[in-house]
Amino acid sequence: MTDHSPFRLLVRGVAKRCPRCGAGRLFVRWFDMKPNCPRCGYRFEREEGFFLGAYVINLALTEVMVGAVFIALIVREAQGWHGSLVPWLLVVGAVQVALPFVSYPFSKTIWAAFDLIMHPSSRSRRPKQSSAGRRRTTKAPGPRAESMGGALWP
Ligand SMILES: [Zn+2]
Repeated sequence: MTDHSPFRLLVRGVAKRCPRCGAGRLFVRWFDMKPNCPRCGYRFEREEGFFLGAYVINLALTEVMVGAVFIALIVREAQGWHGSLVPWLLVVGAVQVALPFVSYPFSKTIWAAFDLIMHPSSRSRRPKQSSAGRRRTTKAPGPRAESMGGALWP
């Protein structure tokens, strides 16, 4: 039996693995993710624009790291250090440029894990495509205005 606890799914996502079965090798190249898991067949991009959440994760991770560098700078300044800001700005610039490229595949698998946590029904089956069972609701025509009070007027 497979473990589908949220923590386990997130660990698989952070490890760049399929959140549903834990399989690896989900990427053809660093930026090119396979559409389905090679082991369990789980479809990662469930709809158009699905990976917008991965973009948000990537952006948040980058901004947290930039914030950490600035906090380190503030702590150094508070301790009485008064050096040049150029090395700090170079580090911040390097983090802002390089980190999104490095964390790109991880943000996609992490987002897939979040999606699987939020939509647990997709762990075992795919969303239904059928529209069978829909009822046609045709409302019977109501009384017309002419027939409601036409007899009252000569
Ligand atoms: Zn899988």
